[in-house]
Formats: sequence, structure tokens, C-alpha cells
Amino acid sequence: MTQVKKEMLNRWKPDDSAELYGIRRWSAGYFDIAPNGDVVVTPFDDKSISVSIKEIINGILERGMNMPVLLRIENLLDAQIENLHKSFAGAIKKFGYKGKFTGVFPIKVNQQQHVIDEMTSFGAKFHHGLEAGSKAELIVAISMLRDEDSFIVCNGYKDEEFMDLGLYATKIGIRCFFVIEMPSELDLLLKRSQELGILPSIGVRIKLSSKAGGHWSDSGGDRSIFGLNTSQLISLVDKLREKNMLDCLKLLHYHLGSQIPNIRDIRSALVEASRVYSDLVKEGAPMGYLDLGGGLAVDYDGSKTNYQNSMNYSLDEYCADVIEVIMNILDEKEINHPIIVTESGRVAVAYSSVLLFNVLDQTRFEAQELPEAIPENSHELIKNLIETLGYVSPKNIQECFNDALYYRDEVMQKFKHGDFSLRERSLAETIFWNIINAIAREKKKLKNIPAALDGIDSTLADIYYCNFSVFQSLPDSWAVGHIFPVLPIHHLNEEPTRNVIIADITCDCDGKIDHFASYGDIRDTLPLHELKDNEEYYIGVFLVGAYQETLGDLHNLMGDTNVVSVSVNAKGDYDFVHEIEGDSVADVLSYVEYQPKMLLERFREKAEKGVRTEKITVAERRKILTAFENGLNGYTYFER
Ligand code: PLP
Repeated sequence: MTQVKKEMLNRWKPDDSAELYGIRRWSAGYFDIAPNGDVVVTPFDDKSISVSIKEIINGILERGMNMPVLLRIENLLDAQIENLHKSFAGAIKKFGYKGKFTGVFPIKVNQQQHVIDEMTSFGAKFHHGLEAGSKAELIVAISMLRDEDSFIVCNGYKDEEFMDLGLYATKIGIRCFFVIEMPSELDLLLKRSQELGILPSIGVRIKLSSKAGGHWSDSGGDRSIFGLNTSQLISLVDKLREKNMLDCLKLLHYHLGSQIPNIRDIRSALVEASRVYSDLVKEGAPMGYLDLGGGLAVDYDGSKTNYQNSMNYSLDEYCADVIEVIMNILDEKEINHPIIVTESGRVAVAYSSVLLFNVLDQTRFEAQELPEAIPENSHELIKNLIETLGYVSPKNIQECFNDALYYRDEVMQKFKHGDFSLRERSLAETIFWNIINAIAREKKKLKNIPAALDGIDSTLADIYYCNFSVFQSLPDSWAVGHIFPVLPIHHLNEEPTRNVIIADITCDCDGKIDHFASYGDIRDTLPLHELKDNEEYYIGVFLVGAYQETLGDLHNLMGDTNVVSVSVNAKGDYDFVHEIEGDSVADVLSYVEYQPKMLLERFREKAEKGVRTEKITVAERRKILTAFENGLNGYTYFER
């Protein structure tokens, strides 16, 4: 084989990147890598229709918007809603289920107007409704719901105003279920219903003894905060019967928690809930609706396991299992099949948003070059370190590692006691880092790597400083160590040669991403490309459409990012459907009670004093004030 042919065969290909970053495992077919190395979005069944995310970034920059940007791809939201309904329709047909499926989107998962707008307009043909957990969310739901056959599920702790809003909505023909979460809510609902003369459709949330695994599993189990236990449920039935209102009890609801990774937990909770449903029918309640809450997971790491960032089932399996369990239990008791309701949030919107940012700078932990000769009269510890460096080989890396740590600690002790100069310490550290680099190189030749050397790669990893805030845009990554897929969105036809930890620009030691999915495991560094002078390097964090936008906070006063929504069409073109500018500095300052006008006024006084005391000229004053005003009106993130 010729040299040229060999080189071509060995060349890094987009498929190698696809394997390395697992894109085909976690993207549900919505993202892939094009031959030119760009990440592309492929929203349709016809995967030849694709749009490059790098091209979308070019379009965003041309329109005058800066990074970071939250990119919403509307087609992916539509596709997920369609998939959910198609999968249930398939299972209903396959098993001969006599009821129907309908979904409600929990507004809390992504409250942004454009998201709810898309959800209610695309979802109308499936009668997809909304779930509201607060007064504000109910107001959104009442106003935004388009389709008259869709309904609203009112969860959460409800006061009189909340109940009245729902009752008035009922009166004008908007279908609302009032889900009783706490025993005390029933009295208030009955009182307001009587006073306003409006009959409510009542639901009840139950506490299941079943619990699930995962990050967000505290919503289930006997100790869950919301829901009625069995004796409270029986009291509710008795009270409704006593008031002649048992006819209003139509819906049974439970919520096991979000991101349930194990299908066994889903089945076991549903078995328990179906038994409760069947007994409520026997008690004389009309029922008709069984609401499973949320929990349908997203495979963030693509491992298809019951690990907390993944799921050991597909959407089709979920739907089939739900139908099968309900039928098994209710058929045995000859009870009519209910309308199945799910409050799936995460799976509906996670795929549709990608956080995009650029890399601003880097730190490399490469050892500096050693001086050509070490002075004869150097301290014994320096000589020992040099000797250790000379010994490093695959056979003794563990021993050399231990020695290097020991000598380095001794050097530090001596320095603290004043027995080692700054210059000597610097030389010792340079030798130490040369040893660590040599160990990292030699360790690659070993099959079995000593456990103590596990963390050495992350010790030597580069830090890429990136233009975003973990606290604002990826709160779950910071708060619960949730894993999102992260990868460069271009250059994927080139081999990434650096191992990197990503730091944000909040200057907080927690403002970083140092956990990445890797072949079903977690690694603490991410392979990325060398940065090139005069060329921006862009990174995308995928599957961030659920929960991240509004859970984010203003740490370091980094505000909302710019948001751009695109819609891909069947020709492979795309339209910019919405562009929303992120917060300005003045916006975020006003959120924490400053008045930008007052700040400007105070600064103006200081500048004027500068003129009076002849520190600056009048012309300089004007320039300085313009800079201050530009700062107030500017983006909170780094602008080139
Ligand atoms: N329903 C209720 C009552 C919830 O509390 C939640 C969120 O935890 C959901 C639905 C949405 O869950 P998921 O996003 O897992 O579908």
C-alpha cells in the first residue's frame, strides 16, 4: 500500500468524531456530523435534509447577535410531540385498548412564550393540553390554549384566586381539572364552586408507596411532599359523596419524579395507581382519566442503561408497557379503559434547544522546559527530583509518582519554613511537572493502569475559558451533576488532540463542566481541537430545552443569553422565526433593585468632580460617560 493511501485510511473522519462524542447514541436521529465536519440538524425522517449549525451561527452573527446564544429548533419540539402521540396510537392499536391517549405539557419545564406558543399551535391537532402548577402558569394556560378539546390540569397548592380563575375558565368552556394535592384544598374548592355556582372537574393526586431511582425521585414514595395517602383519599371520596358531588371526581393523578431511568419503576408505580383507579370506580366515582404525571426520560448520555442520565427503555416500550399494565389490571375487574394522560415535559422539549458559545482563552498545564544544567550545589531534593525524572518508565511509574509527590511536599515544607528560596521552589515545580508529564506519556503504554494514576489526565488537562455561565444556562450541571452532551460544532473531520475542562466566565470555581459522557461511562475531560489564532472555536451543549432556561440564576450578574428560534423546511433551508435579545447590563442590575438611571447619575457626578479637580478635561468626561452608558446598555457576556 502506498504511503498516501495509508495516510488516507488513517485520517480522522467524521465517523470517528461521531463515535467519540456518541452523537448517534444520544441525538435520537436529530443531529449528526456532515462530511465537512459540521454538526447538522436533521429534523425529518428523510435524513438527507439537514442544516449545519455552524451555518446558523454565521447567520446569527451576520444579524448582529453575539455568542452565547440559545438556539431553539422548533421542528424538534414538533417532532417529539408527534412521536409521543404516534407511539401511543401504535400501542393502543396493537393491544386493542378502548380508551385514548392525550398529553398535557407542564409549563414549568419551559415557560417561554415562544415555546408554549409552538406547543399549543402544533399540539392542537393532537389535542395536547397544558399543565399549570401556579396562578401565573394557569393564566398562561387559559390564554394560550388554542384547541377547545385540549384541557388544562391544575396542579400545585391552590388558593382562592387560583380556584376562581379555574372555575371561571370552566364556565366559559375551557376544560380544567382541579387536582387536589392536599386534603385542605377540597373544602376551599367546594366552597368556591358553591358560591360561584360552577361545577368543577375534580382530580386527585395520590402518594404512591412505589419509588423510582434517579436525580429527581423524591416526588414519589410515602414521604413525598404532595398527594393524598390512602386514608385521606377515602375521606375525600366520603366527603364528595356526602355533598352529592362524587360525580365530579374524574381524574386520578400521580407523579413519580422526573427522568425515571428504569422501566421497572414506571411499571410498578402504574400497577399501584391502576389498582387505586379501579377501586375509586368501585366506590362510585365516574373517573375516566388516569394521569401518570411526568418521568418519561431522555437518554442524555446515550448509554441506554438505568443510569440516572439515561433510560433503559424506548418511547415505544414506554407506551406499550403503560397500555399493557392498565389493561391487565382493569380488564380483570371489568372496568372501562380510561383516557391516559401524561404530563411529559422533559422528553417534549429537551432536544429542541442547544446552547452555543465560543472559546475565549485557554490555560495549558504543560511543563516548562528544564534549564540545560542543574547547578552543582543544588539542594538534595532538587537532585532527587531530577533523578526521579530520569527513571520514569512503564515498569515503575507508580513508584516515580509516589517519589515525585513526596519530594514536592518536602519542598513545600522547606519553603514555608524559609529554607528554600522562591527560585529554588520554581525549579523544583518545573521538574515535578516534567515528571508528571512523563508519567502520563508512559502510562499510555500500560494495559493495567494503577488506580492512583486515574486522575493524572485531568490534572494535566487544558482549561478552555468559554463565553457562557453554567449557573445561568446549565443549572442542573452545576446543582446535581447532570450530564449534557457537549461537543464542538465544527472541525469534526479533524482529530481532537487536547484534553480539556470547560470553564465559564463567572470566575467561580464551580463555574465549569468537568463531567462528560463517554461510552456509557463518565470522563472528567473532553477531547477538543487545538485553538487556532484568528479563528473562533464554537462548542454546543445539546438537549438543554427542559428546565435549564428558567432555573438559571444571575450569579455574577450574567443574564439571559440571546435566543434565536429557527425552523427548518423540507428544502433544507431554514428561517429565523424569532430573535430575542438577551439581558443588558441595565436589565440585570434592575433585577437586583438598582436603578440604572440613578447609577448613571452618580457616575456623572463623579466625572464632573473629576473635571472640577482637573483630573480630566470636559472632552474626556464626555468620552468616559459614553463608555459608562455603553456598558449599561451592553450584553452581560464577553463581546469581541
Ligand atoms: N408533572 C409534575 C407534577 C411535575 O412535578 C413534573 C416535573 O417534575 C412534571 C410533570 C414533568 O416531568 P418530566 O419533565 O419528567 O416529564
